[in-house]
Amino acid sequence: MAAAPDRAEIERQGIAFESGSPEEILRWTTTSFAPDALLTMSFQHEGVVIAHMLRTIAPETPVLFIDTGYHFPETLAYRDRLQELFGLEVRNLTSVLPRQEFIAQHGDDLWDRDPDLCCQINKVEPMQLALRGVKAWINGRRRDQAGTRLGMPIVELLGSGLVKVNPLANWHAKTTWAYMEAHQIPPHPLFEQGYASIGCHPCTRPILAGEDDRAGRWAGRGKTECGLHTIGMAAAEPAPAAADPTAAPTPAPTAPPGRSDRSS
Ligand code: SF4
Repeated sequence: MAAAPDRAEIERQGIAFESGSPEEILRWTTTSFAPDALLTMSFQHEGVVIAHMLRTIAPETPVLFIDTGYHFPETLAYRDRLQELFGLEVRNLTSVLPRQEFIAQHGDDLWDRDPDLCCQINKVEPMQLALRGVKAWINGRRRDQAGTRLGMPIVELLGSGLVKVNPLANWHAKTTWAYMEAHQIPPHPLFEQGYASIGCHPCTRPILAGEDDRAGRWAGRGKTECGLHTIGMAAAEPAPAAADPTAAPTPAPTAPPGRSDRSS
């Protein structure tokens, strides 16, 4: 393994990668940080594209999926289909609270009463635990997905020392589609129904003409991000005191409400 790049090198690479390809960025990341680099994805197209690229660049890179217990059944089926198609081993992260305990403590409508707490328990805490000891975190965000992502660098050194890598930062939806078509990768089944950014079923609706890709997430709730992408920003942050969540079995998905109920 090469010596890990220092801040100056990371900043230099971040600028150079503005005109580089995602494959170059992934090659640099996995060469510099393996075995302490990983990809997180929610089986949206950008994560799928990166997982596909990693198959030839560094297939040993761990791929993590946060299974909140509230995903659409279509997302779970798509995950299973692509795992088979790509020969991918996906590690499912679940809340440290077993499903029944979570519901007993918080009810099955925490997403409605307190979505920040729901995301904290079901997304942020499992991810904080999974990132222990990790040096580079690859993810599939694009700048044009939302106004809040416009200034996102391709490579960023976070306050905690974690290096966050956004290899598709300067891609667009059409670039992603072109890659998928060129490689005959099947799309997520809900994209054909007007969904552009797909998270948990209670908090996701299809987008309307002219809306940005993430407008269907927590629509009307004054919330735009789940909190995952603030992990590691501070030099030190309170770690969840819990056992390794990866040992927990993946809970069965909760059946989604009818399509007309998805506007919250
Ligand atoms: S997106 Fe909604 S259902 Fe999923 S963890 Fe966050 S609040 Fe809960």
